[in-house]
Amino acid sequence: MPIAGIAMKYKELSQTVQSFSNTNKMPVLFLGHGSPMNAIEENEFVAGFRKVGKEIDKPQAVLCISAHWETKGTYVTAMKSPRTIHDFGGFPEALFDVQYPAPGSPELAKETKNIITKTDIGLDEKWGLDHGAWSVIKHMYPEADVPVIQMSLNYSQPPQYHFELAKELAMLREKGVLIVGSGNMVHNLRKVAWNRLNEVDFAYDWATEASDKMKKFITEQDYRSLINYTAQGTAFKLAIPTPEHYLPLLYTLALRDGKDEVQIFNDKAVAGSLTMTSLKIS
Ligand code: ZN
Repeated sequence: MPIAGIAMKYKELSQTVQSFSNTNKMPVLFLGHGSPMNAIEENEFVAGFRKVGKEIDKPQAVLCISAHWETKGTYVTAMKSPRTIHDFGGFPEALFDVQYPAPGSPELAKETKNIITKTDIGLDEKWGLDHGAWSVIKHMYPEADVPVIQMSLNYSQPPQYHFELAKELAMLREKGVLIVGSGNMVHNLRKVAWNRLNEVDFAYDWATEASDKMKKFITEQDYRSLINYTAQGTAFKLAIPTPEHYLPLLYTLALRDGKDEVQIFNDKAVAGSLTMTSLKIS
C-alpha cells in the first residue's frame, strides 16, 4: 500500500475510534437459536437469552452474524431502520406478526467496513433483521432500543477464512459493540425427530458425541480442530451437514482473547438433531 493509502487507512481507523466511545470490553456471544418459535414461546432457552442480556452492560450496538444470511462476498446491513424478515414457512400467524423495530446503525456499518482489511465489505440496504437475529435479540433487548446490524456469511469461503475475518472485529468489543454469532452447533433438520419435538434434551448418539467433542475443543481452545470440522468423523458430518449454522460459532471463538473465560449455557438438545448450546465469552 503506498504511503498515502496507509495514511488514509490510519485516518479511517482513528475516525472509527472517535465515533464510538471507549467502553469496558464487551463479551462475545454464540447463541443457539433453534426453532423460530423461540421468538414467541416461553421456555428455558428464552430464559437463558434473557438472563445473559441482563448480565451484560447494555451495548451501544449489536453486530449479529446470523446463519440465515449467506451471500457471495461479505456485507453488513447499513440502513437506518432494518425491516423484520420472516424468513421461514409453516409457522403460526403469531410468529409472522412479530416485529422487532430495533434501529440500524449506518455508522457502525461503515466502521465495520473500515476496520476489515481482509476483504471489501459491502454496505447493504436491502436485507434487514432475519430470524437468526431477531428471534434471540428480542429476548435480550425487548424494548428494541439497541441498534442492530447484521454481517453476512460469505458462502464461497472456507472455515479458516471466516475465523480470520472475525478476528478483525476485535476492536469493536472495546467500543461498546456486542458481537453475537447466531446459529446452532449441532443442526441437522433432515434428522429432526418431529414426534419428540417437545421433549427437552433428547439427542441422537451422534449428536451427543459431536456436541461433547465440540465443547471439549472449545474448553481446550483447540480451534484448529473446530475449523477443520470436516475431518472430525461421522458424528460431525451428521451434526454439520451444511456450514451456515456452525460458522457463527467460529466468529465468536475467533474473538476470544487470552483473558476471556467461556461460559456455556442453554446446553441442551432438541428433537434429537439440534443443540441449543450457547456461549458467553467474557
Ligand atoms: Zn436457524
